[in-house]
Amino acid sequence: MAKKDYYEVLGIQKGADEKEIKRAYKRLAMKYHPDRTKGDKESEEKFKEINEAYEILNDKEKRAAYDQYGHAAFEQGGFGGGAGGFGGGFGGFGGFEDIFSEMFGGGSSRQRVVRGDDLRYDIEITLEEAVRGVSKDIQIRTLVHCDECNGTGAEKGSKVETCSTCHGRGRVRRQQGFFMTETDCPHCHGTGKKIEKPCKKCHGDGRVHKTESLSVKIPAGVDTGNQLRLSGKGAAGENGAPAGDLYVVIHVQDHPIFERDGNNLYCEVPISFTQAALGGEIEVPTLDGRAKLKVPEGTQTGKMFRLRGKGIAAMRSGYAGDLICKITVETPVSLTEEQKELLRKLEESLEGQESQRPKHSSFFNGVKKFFDNLGK
Ligand SMILES: [Zn+2]
Ligand SMILES: [Zn+2]
Repeated sequence: MAKKDYYEVLGIQKGADEKEIKRAYKRLAMKYHPDRTKGDKESEEKFKEINEAYEILNDKEKRAAYDQYGHAAFEQGGFGGGAGGFGGGFGGFGGFEDIFSEMFGGGSSRQRVVRGDDLRYDIEITLEEAVRGVSKDIQIRTLVHCDECNGTGAEKGSKVETCSTCHGRGRVRRQQGFFMTETDCPHCHGTGKKIEKPCKKCHGDGRVHKTESLSVKIPAGVDTGNQLRLSGKGAAGENGAPAGDLYVVIHVQDHPIFERDGNNLYCEVPISFTQAALGGEIEVPTLDGRAKLKVPEGTQTGKMFRLRGKGIAAMRSGYAGDLICKITVETPVSLTEEQKELLRKLEESLEGQESQRPKHSSFFNGVKKFFDNLGK
């Protein structure tokens, strides 16, 4: 069977640059990685092809040879004695480990440090706090460096040696099918060290549990789902390794009056039906206190009024959103006989004055048309 063109395998142009090659390779290798395709033979073949193509095209010299001679460059007696090692595991491939550690988050294999865990803290704040910013004291259960052994995990005066299994690397390699994998060393759990006498307080871990108090500064303009990263405030690492980060996740409570949509605030404002009919100035709530709003004559339920800049100032730009007031015209209740009489008089005076009842007339015209069409 003829070998496929390496460029075709990676789905790239002949003139593709290094970045394009890398990108194409990453995408395909992720797709056909044996961890994902679970023993599918065709995918496995494809994965081998992809790796082979990448191994050649990612190497300047090999790529030049391939461009000139095609696959013949790597056949017996060809370029540099042939690539030879395919199918025999990927151990010897330059650059291969790098890209995989990048892809699978393995980190550098040269000097492995087991950084402490990242922690998450969910915090609830009021809308006012979200708008203005607030400082909050929180308590988190975390791991801190053991003060007894100074985070080393070894009892005072005892020896700390290099792990003989991994020779201090903290990682061991294992052949898995045709694929070489690297895992934490099972003997030292990735620390690369062997502790002769573990510290009694932390049992050799170098860390102890502690409830820590922290003050968190929440900036103005945050919204639910925003995260603050407090670098190095996560759990301490094993045996003196650096701490992880603390992520504070914001949850803004519902507000009894305002509803938030991005940087805009919405608020429903009830007005009496005489106010709605006659118009006038009403008072509306804002986050800074009361504000006046002019309602024109003949205002209907559902009408929205925008108060510019009375919303929430955006976290980065500082650009303020608007406050949008939605009017609800209220029907009066528990009327006295006298009040009812006044309303009846009003109703009488409106009789036949369709232009004074805009919604009524358009609605009933629509209904009339609907029935007329039915009758056809
Ligand atoms: Zn080890
Ligand atoms: Zn200790």
